[in-house]
Amino acid sequence: MYDKLTAWLRLSAERIHEEATALTALDRAIGDGDHGINMDRGFAAIVATLDETEAPIAEALNEAEASATLLRTAGKRLISTVGGASGPLYGTAFLRAAGAIAAGNGRPAETIVAALEAAAGGVASLGKASPGEKTMLDALVPAAQAARAAIDSGADLAAVVAAARDAAEAGAVGTIPMLATKGRASYLGERSVGHQDPGATSSALLLRALADVASD
Ligand code: ADP
Ligand code: MG
Repeated sequence: MYDKLTAWLRLSAERIHEEATALTALDRAIGDGDHGINMDRGFAAIVATLDETEAPIAEALNEAEASATLLRTAGKRLISTVGGASGPLYGTAFLRAAGAIAAGNGRPAETIVAALEAAAGGVASLGKASPGEKTMLDALVPAAQAARAAIDSGADLAAVVAAARDAAEAGAVGTIPMLATKGRASYLGERSVGHQDPGATSSALLLRALADVASD
């Protein structure tokens, strides 16, 4: 779990760097044009911290504690470096996921489902938002629900995460016709309709990276 999560953070940083211009373009349409820049800065900071601290983290008490410490460290970096609305929201998602992993039962698939649910719940409570408002929750909530449904039907880790990825990607595309009622995009009112939400898009990107790592 620890090695996979480390690989996920590094792969996410690469993908976000590659997609930064596209994410920023989405945010230029319905926000202030900084989402890709914000996320790229945050994930570059995570990688820099990993380069310095990966070995000490791996020497933590046990696998779950090392994994939780890793996500907690990443969440703190996001809060301190991403800025905007998405920094605290993603930071909270990571901190909540870390809590779920620390409390996990040691079975990776079940722990990942609990972590996804905790992450989505953290964003919903901090952002005072729910699905349908054209935010990252439109990717994260369906992803957590699909992961839960997959595990309930006996899926393994790779299949659980693949289900979450598919739901997140469909959810991100599903924000296009939505009217934004939270965050900066809500200032546009009806003019927010017809554009894909940048935060939902970055959430889908993170879940695609997780699915790619899980199936390795
Ligand atoms: P800012 O809007 O401050 O410039 P970013 O551009 O980095 O921050 O992030 C914008 C994204 O944050 C949006 O696309 C949306 O997905 C997400 N977001 C904004 N406000 C909320 C909220 N209250 N709840 C959930 N997600 C939100
Ligand atoms: Mg922005």
